[in-house]
Amino acid sequence: MSPTFRRQVLRKIPSVDDILSRKEILDLLSVHPRAVVVEAIRRGLGRLRKEILNRDNLSGDEEALLSFKNIFPLFQKEIDLQVQPRLRRVINATGIVIHTNLGRAPLHPLAINHMVKVAKAYSNLEYDLALGERGDRHFHVEEILCRLSGAESALVVNNNAGAVLLCLNTLSEGREVVISRGELVEIGGAFRIPDVMKRSGAFLREVGTTNRTHLNDYQRAISPQTGLLLKVHTSNFKVMGFTSDVSLAELVQMGRERHLPVMEDIGSGCFVDLTQYGMEKEPTVQDAVRTGVDVVTFSGDKLLGGPQAGIILGKKDILESIKVNPLLRALRIDKLTLAALESTLFLYLDEKRAMEEIPTLQMLGLDMRKLKRRGNRLLKRLQEKVKKGVQFTLREDVSQVGGGALPLQELPTIILSVKSSDRSVNSLEQGLRKADPPIISRISKDELVFDMRTVFDEEIPILAQGIEKALSQMNEK
Ligand SMILES: *Cc1c(COP(=O)(O)O)cnc(C)c1O
Repeated sequence: MSPTFRRQVLRKIPSVDDILSRKEILDLLSVHPRAVVVEAIRRGLGRLRKEILNRDNLSGDEEALLSFKNIFPLFQKEIDLQVQPRLRRVINATGIVIHTNLGRAPLHPLAINHMVKVAKAYSNLEYDLALGERGDRHFHVEEILCRLSGAESALVVNNNAGAVLLCLNTLSEGREVVISRGELVEIGGAFRIPDVMKRSGAFLREVGTTNRTHLNDYQRAISPQTGLLLKVHTSNFKVMGFTSDVSLAELVQMGRERHLPVMEDIGSGCFVDLTQYGMEKEPTVQDAVRTGVDVVTFSGDKLLGGPQAGIILGKKDILESIKVNPLLRALRIDKLTLAALESTLFLYLDEKRAMEEIPTLQMLGLDMRKLKRRGNRLLKRLQEKVKKGVQFTLREDVSQVGGGALPLQELPTIILSVKSSDRSVNSLEQGLRKADPPIISRISKDELVFDMRTVFDEEIPILAQGIEKALSQMNEK
C-alpha cells in the first residue's frame, strides 16, 4: 500500500466535532459526562488511526473501516473502560480462602447492612448518647471484644500491622524488645517484624536460634534496657524437626517475675477452636488471653472473617497507655469498618452460627458432599453448551486456608478442570481474568482448575457463563 494512499485514508477519519454532532452520541451524552464521551471519542479515533497505520493492506475496505457503524462500538468500549470502577468484585476460584490479593474476608450480610446504615446517615461514632457529649469511637466494640475473649480491655485500629506498630511504640520506644530468632517473620507485603520494630523506635534484641529458643535465652537477654518480651505467632510457616520454643505462658510467667510486659502478635486471630471441626490446632484468642499476657494483637479480616482491622486486647493499664499514644489518631479505624466489625463480632456469641454463617469460617468447614453438589451444578451447566475439543472433569484436590493461617492445613476439595484441545491454558486463564466479573482461577500443570470451596453457590451461573464465553471467544479468533 502506498504511503500516499494511507495518508488519504487517514485524512478521511472524522473529527471529534463531526462525531459529537451525531444523534447516537447525543444518547451517550444523556447518560455520561461530556468529558468522558469526548475522551472516549478521542481514544476511539486514536485506535482507528493506529489500525489504519498497522494494516498491510487497505484497498477495498477503507469505506467499511471508516463507517460510523464500525467506529461507534469503539467509543462505547472506551466509555466502559472509563466508567467501570477500578476496584471490582471478582470470583475467587483459587480455593485459597483468605486470599490477601483478593481482599481477604467476604463479609456477612448483617455486617454489610450495618455498614450501609451507618454510611447513609449520621451516627454516634464519637458521641455518647447517654450523656449527650463527646464519646469514644473505640467504645462500640470494646464490650463485645472483652466478652468474647475474656480480656480486660480492647482497642481497634486500621489493621494488625498498625496494631503491632502502635503497641511496640507505646511499650518500648527507645528500649529493647526481646524476641526469639525463630519468630522474626515476614508476613508478606513487606511486613517484617525487624522493620516494624525499627519504625516503632524500639530496639530488636533477638535471642535463641532459628529452630530452638529456650527460656534461659530470654532470661540472659533481659537488662535494664529491656522494655518488652514479644512473641510472634509464626502464622504462615512451620519449623519442623529438631525444634523447641518457649510457650506464651512461660514467657508471661517470666515477665511477671522480671516486671516486664509481655505481648503476643497472634496474626490470624480466631475465636473458635477449629480442632472441633477437624482442622489443625490454631491457638485461639481466648487461649492467649487466658495466659495473662499483657497485650495481644490480631487481624480482623483473616480467620475472624470481618473487615480489615487490627484488634488489640489486654490489661487495662497497658491499653490505657496505648489509648493516649498520638499514633493512635493516625491509625484509627473508620466508621464503616467499625460497623462491619461490630456485627461480625456479634455473630460469635453463637459459635455454631458463626461457623455456619461467617463466610470465611463457612468455607473452611464445607464438606465434600456440598462441594461435590456445587461442582456438579457447574459441570451440568457447562456440558449443556459444551464445545467440541473442550474437556471438563470434576475431581478431588486440596484447597488452602491462606492469609498466613494454618499453613499446613490441607482441606480436601472438589475442583473442576478445563482442558481445551486448541487453546493454551494460559490464554484461557487470561480470558477469564478479562471476564465481567473477572474470574480468578488456578493453573495446575496443563489444566485450568476452579476450586469449588471459594465460589459461592449464587456465583455458579455467573462462573459457568464466564467460562463458556471465554472458551467461545477463544475459538472465534
Ligand atoms: C497477617 C499478620 C500481620 C499483619 O496483619 P494485617 O492485618 O495484614 O495488617 C501481622 N502479624 C502476623 C503474625 C500476621 O499473621
